[in-house]
Amino acid sequence: LYLFYLTGPIGMLVEGATQLQTGLAAVTRLRQVEELEVEELTPGAPAASGGTAPAALVFTDVRFHYSQDRSPALDGVSFEVPAGSMTALVGPSGAGKSTMFALLERFYEPDGGSITLDGRELRDIPLPELRAALGYVEQDTPVLAGTLRENLLFGAPEVTEDEVAAVIARTQLTDLVNRLPEGLETQVGHRGLMLSGGERQRVAIARALLRKPRVLLLDEATSQLDAVNELRLREVIEEVAATTTVLVIAHRLSTVTSARQIVVLEAGRVRAAGGHTELVAADELYRELATTQFVASGEAMAGNAG
Ligand code: ATP
Repeated sequence: LYLFYLTGPIGMLVEGATQLQTGLAAVTRLRQVEELEVEELTPGAPAASGGTAPAALVFTDVRFHYSQDRSPALDGVSFEVPAGSMTALVGPSGAGKSTMFALLERFYEPDGGSITLDGRELRDIPLPELRAALGYVEQDTPVLAGTLRENLLFGAPEVTEDEVAAVIARTQLTDLVNRLPEGLETQVGHRGLMLSGGERQRVAIARALLRKPRVLLLDEATSQLDAVNELRLREVIEEVAATTTVLVIAHRLSTVTSARQIVVLEAGRVRAAGGHTELVAADELYRELATTQFVASGEAMAGNAG
């Protein structure tokens, strides 16, 4: 699977469309490019002209239909993601969480309302700048054939060794790098050493961070992690959220309890928003999600509220 190596408009389209399952045309296109050799594709995302400072996102009365004969996927969604903090999106399947990411990446335009990034309407931001500003970590990211360094650096414009080292530390990959026989130059993926689910997810976060996004969009993996990896993921997400704006489609209890704000979506609408303890007390749907859907690792439901 070489999709991760695609950058630029087509790569972005294919990558995003794949992740968001946006339809047949994209799948056809994906099949066409799947055969391409990694070497033929040009790495390097365009540099963001908006700098790398964390940005705020504001959704105001956002409405969106995939088609007129269907009920709206988003039906008047308003909420804010303050710069440099974490917001978690939760809700049942079909609530509109992925659609929000698709609108942010501008795979679609909203039918109404507005979405701004640091006060600028998304549609007024040149697409390469927008895509460079948004770091996207998809669910259950594959590791690609190549070295760990190649996995980390692909799509990262001009990164120094110091920056690589800092991101490895931030994402708690130091142990992994030390353990691998040739460190960062070790072949990983299907032709090399297999990485665990937790390592793969942290590699994906590290790769996104090396592109210095202004907002990190994270579609959290649903797969079960062992206790050590669960704790590491939690610490990494908290650490990243201390300096970067993070919007996460959350599937883990440990993530929602770390979020400053949780937005509960249901049928394309914001049903409730607040902190974990508050929502457990006040919102029946949230309580149900917390007990039945979130991937927990033995933590008490109401514990660790943030
Ligand atoms: P999940 O947790 O299952 O991923 P979600 O909350 O991300 O769900 P969305 O994928 O955003 O929900 O879907 C919102 C609504 O839009 C659903 O009714 C879904 O069937 C519909 N939808 C999503 N993608 C498309 C598409 N490409 N074409 C048509 N309808 C779509």
